Amino acid sequence: MERLWTPWRRAFIESAARPEAKPPSCFLCANPAAGIERDRVHFILYRGERTYALLNLYPYNSGHLLVAPYQHTGNFAHLDPATSAEMAALAQRCVAALTEVYRPHAFNLGMNLGEAAGAGVPDHLHTHVVPRWNGDTNFMPVLGSTKVLPESLEQTFDRLRPHFQAGP
Ligand SMILES: [Zn+2]
Repeated sequence: MERLWTPWRRAFIESAARPEAKPPSCFLCANPAAGIERDRVHFILYRGERTYALLNLYPYNSGHLLVAPYQHTGNFAHLDPATSAEMAALAQRCVAALTEVYRPHAFNLGMNLGEAAGAGVPDHLHTHVVPRWNGDTNFMPVLGSTKVLPESLEQTFDRLRPHFQAGP
């Protein structure tokens, strides 16, 4: 389990160490509120009724996505059932799109609830959807804090976006 969840904790710890990367407010609230015309800037792939999907700005792998509700809450136990159901459905859609575009070997899906669990934004729930390839945990620690990703966030966005524009 430790190994499974460590990657995103590390990514957020790295981001927290760079003060200029810290958002002034909750970016999971602010970014969708900025308007649909800013979606490419904020890497928002899809807007549902209650939830949306976006690229993680500090990806563990190319195609590391987040699914979050518009509602600002860290309380998963009391999340309303409709929002919870839409989060699950959108996570499925992310897996389908990533499978089509990246053909990963496997996925990690999960939430970190609370700072002690590694949540970088503990007050706003989000599910991580991370495509995995055989061996990706083996070479990452060797690279230390420098992440070498095979493509930019813009490229990832442009490749995935069409797969979210078709009907559900
Ligand atoms: Zn928020």
